[in-house]
Amino acid sequence: MALDDGFLQDMAQQLCEVSGVVGVVLGGSRARGVHTPESDYDIGIYYRRPLDISALGDVARTLAGPRAAVTDIGVWGPWVDGGAWLTIADNAVDWLYRDLDRVQRIWTGVQEGAYGFPAQVGHPFGFADFAYVGELALSIVLDDPTGELTALRAAAQEYPTALSENLVRRLWESSFDVYIARKAVGRGDATFVAGCLFRAIEVCAHALHARAGRWLINEKGAVAAAGRLSIAPENFTYRAQSIIGTLGTTPAELVRALDAADELVRDTVLACDIRPSAVVVTEPAPAGPEPEAASRTTPAAPKMVLWEQHCCLPLQENADVTELARYPAGSFLSVNIGYSPQSKAQASALGHAFRRNALWDGRFRPVQVLDDLTAAAEDGMIALAFDLEDSGPLEGEVDNVRHFYDLGVRTMLPTYNYANAAGCGCLDAEDTGLSAYGRDLVREMNAVGMTVDGSHCSIRTGLELAEASERPMIYSHANFKSLWSHPRNITDDQARACAATGGVIGINGVGIFLGVNGPEQHRDRVRAIADHIAYGVDLVGVAHIGVGSDYSFDSADFNLELATNPQAFSEAYTAWGPLQWVPPEDLLTVPAELMRRGFDDASIAAIFGGNFARVAAQVWS
Ligand SMILES: [Zn+2]
Repeated sequence: MALDDGFLQDMAQQLCEVSGVVGVVLGGSRARGVHTPESDYDIGIYYRRPLDISALGDVARTLAGPRAAVTDIGVWGPWVDGGAWLTIADNAVDWLYRDLDRVQRIWTGVQEGAYGFPAQVGHPFGFADFAYVGELALSIVLDDPTGELTALRAAAQEYPTALSENLVRRLWESSFDVYIARKAVGRGDATFVAGCLFRAIEVCAHALHARAGRWLINEKGAVAAAGRLSIAPENFTYRAQSIIGTLGTTPAELVRALDAADELVRDTVLACDIRPSAVVVTEPAPAGPEPEAASRTTPAAPKMVLWEQHCCLPLQENADVTELARYPAGSFLSVNIGYSPQSKAQASALGHAFRRNALWDGRFRPVQVLDDLTAAAEDGMIALAFDLEDSGPLEGEVDNVRHFYDLGVRTMLPTYNYANAAGCGCLDAEDTGLSAYGRDLVREMNAVGMTVDGSHCSIRTGLELAEASERPMIYSHANFKSLWSHPRNITDDQARACAATGGVIGINGVGIFLGVNGPEQHRDRVRAIADHIAYGVDLVGVAHIGVGSDYSFDSADFNLELATNPQAFSEAYTAWGPLQWVPPEDLLTVPAELMRRGFDDASIAAIFGGNFARVAAQVWS
């Protein structure tokens, strides 16, 4: 016969009369209303030392008969603590001791993001210390004479943001576990692989709960519980259980499981990164260079140390993202994930891989909304978004703008060098401008919140982008034809049309676009960047010039790309020998060069961050 509420409350009152007991709760499945008739009654006994164990034993024997016994504190291990397994009227009733001061200390810690998974017998992943708080949050208070449990329980209804952030950040471990497991594949060490996979999946389950703001207090059933969360990747539970359940022992079988685990981790990283996409409209853009087209309802632009509007990793999933840390902490970087040769699947895979590896490294924060930028700068992280050079990876589907936006793409140029469905490129002999499809793309990008970029486009396409876009458009990485006549550089008309939208022209550091491509001409390239900046400031105003260095983190890779995909380039790229770039270290010397030329601090700050940040505030949504 089930125990009724009256019985449970009587028992709690008797327990509270024992010296040391502060309060008593009902926990487990019965508190959460997910029990079966066979479920145990989990009774949490919150105490402060000294606890009168002998008096507790008397209560146990009164309720469960003369053979009932209770344990001392700590005999079941440091975290399970102790208690009693009782049988009362044919029901299993478990008493579990909880040291209230310790619960309070953990509560204080988790609000700062502190947590641990200390070793504990019976808990293969370790005991989640924050489960002490979660248990109380999910319990029913039976007796609480001082009101202490009720107050703590009420406070813990709100899942701490700092704990959530840190558990999500721990997803680096999932990637690492899968990575390290691969080293045991050759030996067919299925046991080691299984252990790594178990950890990888448990970390995912914790991250998903944390992102959803839900306490995860029990390792048993954690995967299934994670799979039921609305943010969980598709078929999370089935995929996770299959990875372990069908592991196998041969190297081929182990590799298959690890590949599946990599995908599960990747999808979890993406699921955990999704934030509310609405940007709260606060106040007008702060004082400073104010473009004529600035809207009065634009949210404040984030303040970044450096805004690099375009740089390039090798377009390979194993590209070394840690190279991006050559930019200073607090920077924003837009990293390319594809151009004309990439399919949707390839560009998406690159985005996933770069994001995962960046999270794994721990110094980077992939961003979705403006608030992420501010948070990244405050935390000394490098903020990452992606860009597409060419609309080819959209495969002709306007709806794919949203797909890539969700992946973190915030800038796209419709046409790379040569004509495609969207319009003409800068190397085309004939220039028919933006196509009808190109206009549809601009409309969708405006609606979704992706910045329209005219780099690599033909002159007419660029001018028509400025005309068609209802939000500021940019040239993420383009220099001035008036200073160096190269088809990749833009006309003064293009620059004026861009500025009239409220947009920004990012000056790049590519030797052949600066007109300074000698392998040893490092200082000359820095001066040439300053020349283009100064020219642009005279032409369209300091509010419309920024930096998009186009630095290629593997120059050999790009020069190989020139050789592999010659149809995407022309003599305009190859006439000056191997391409040279301005690396991040040299880019950081440009402000000093500008200072020598009389630029003030406010102008330099606008050029190196403020202007593109303002565009982001106006376009991202
Ligand atoms: Zn480019």
